Amino acid sequence: MSCSFCHRANHPCIMDPVKAPSCSERVRRKGRCDGVDVGNKLTATIREIRRLEDEEGRLTKRALEVQKQVLELQQKLHKQKKQDSLFRQCRSFHSKDSLTVNPSEKPLG
Ligand SMILES: [Zn+2]
Repeated sequence: MSCSFCHRANHPCIMDPVKAPSCSERVRRKGRCDGVDVGNKLTATIREIRRLEDEEGRLTKRALEVQKQVLELQQKLHKQKKQDSLFRQCRSFHSKDSLTVNPSEKPLG
């Protein structure tokens, strides 16, 4: 794996950890080489990406479950409101009916 300097400069990154902790190009230019860490960092990054993808999958699944629950509750609420409305209409109808005076009945007294 090339160090970031060689990668950007499109140089071949040749390392010999026994001779130096830097690649030949960075030794020649007397700069710090990050080539040794690139492999470890890449592995860690790939591992983190997979972990985040797994978490995204779990969260997406959970979001769908919650959406389903919300939809069920909305349907339940809608049904309950409809029943309440019918109940109120029915009660209103009966209370008006009981107040209606039958013309054939004579008032008491
Ligand atoms: Zn290099």
